Amino acid sequence: MRLNSLTLRNFRNYRASALTFSPGVNLILGDNAQGKTNLLEAIAFLGSGKSFRTQKGAELIRFDQEFGELEGSVFSQEREQSLRWILFSGNRPRQCFRNGAKKKSAADLAGVLQTVLFCPEDLMVLRAGAAARRRLGDGALCQLRPNYEAALAEYGRVLERKSRILKDRFQDQRLLDLLPEYDAQLCRVGALLIAYRARFYDSLGKAAGAYHGHFSGGGEDFRLEYKTVSTILDPFAPVSVLEGQLREHLESHRRGELESAQCLTGPHRDDFEVSLSGRNLKQFGSQGQVRTAAISLKLAQRELMGKASGETPVLLLDDVLSELDPGRQDFVLNQISGGQVFITCCEPGRFSKLGKTVFIKGGQAVDGPELG
Ligand code: ATP
Ligand code: MG
Repeated sequence: MRLNSLTLRNFRNYRASALTFSPGVNLILGDNAQGKTNLLEAIAFLGSGKSFRTQKGAELIRFDQEFGELEGSVFSQEREQSLRWILFSGNRPRQCFRNGAKKKSAADLAGVLQTVLFCPEDLMVLRAGAAARRRLGDGALCQLRPNYEAALAEYGRVLERKSRILKDRFQDQRLLDLLPEYDAQLCRVGALLIAYRARFYDSLGKAAGAYHGHFSGGGEDFRLEYKTVSTILDPFAPVSVLEGQLREHLESHRRGELESAQCLTGPHRDDFEVSLSGRNLKQFGSQGQVRTAAISLKLAQRELMGKASGETPVLLLDDVLSELDPGRQDFVLNQISGGQVFITCCEPGRFSKLGKTVFIKGGQAVDGPELG
């Protein structure tokens, strides 16, 4: 799949811009704060109705404007297609269109334009806290499996209600009567999340291992291990078994939850761990190994999405290449061929010969200097 052109009106710092792109590598060049990341955000939003920077749609509209609009022409599913969004600043619901027909929700645009974002924070994700890894895994899995996304949202809603009860019951003990029902829901939906994650992390680990192997010349054995609630003996077990084991863990932590007024048990605390040749990467990995493993994970994510939909998703590299040494840059550039890529950068450097270069200044595409 590829994005051929994009028109933005009142999106972030773009007033009115029409841009066209190459089916291969697109280098987005410009000084700081000119709108490079905004452009990647627009591309990701066009396909998904989601921003990787904010939950609030109104923030995407140019300051002091009433509405914003994005329109893109995409080649995917063997044909030209158009996607269009109109965002409103007040309470008026946003609108989306596919090939000119108004659609109910972003779900109706699924599969037309899929993107994988890679940003500098991702490079250190294997050394960060568990929440960053959960975000990365959940983000990828939600794109792959809409049913997972729905289950994750449901789990989040119930968890929030349970947290509130655990805190508010000091004022009103009767609230505790609601707990058994919430716990039952958390075990039921939580088991489903674990089943999805077990399969996803297994495939992700295998694909990432192949990239990492290439990159390290086969010298390092990359393993990814999914970490979940300790009473889960086998995350591949039938969902009913997982549900029972979650309940066991919950029951053994009931007192602790009441005392601490926190939800201590469940897959909202899941994590995954990477080891290289048997050594835990977080503890023992060098900076370079941590980065290489992260690159492998991102390339693996793109590969899994490509396999699932039959088309290579569009890759968005925000400021990542300039963070890498030349050897890693070349590795990434070699591995990404075959799909469309957008690379943002402040300096033309050695990338300027890759494909099309788009210069961005103050939210507009401008003629850039001649590059040698
Ligand atoms: P850097 O190289 O520093 O990453 P960038 O080119 O990626 O810079 P962006 O993150 O795209 O820069 O942001 C460019 C500018 O857009 C920022 O100065 C920000 O103030 C502005 N901006 C963000 N949201 C809006 C909005 N809703 N309306 C108008 N301008 C906005
Ligand atoms: Mg940026």
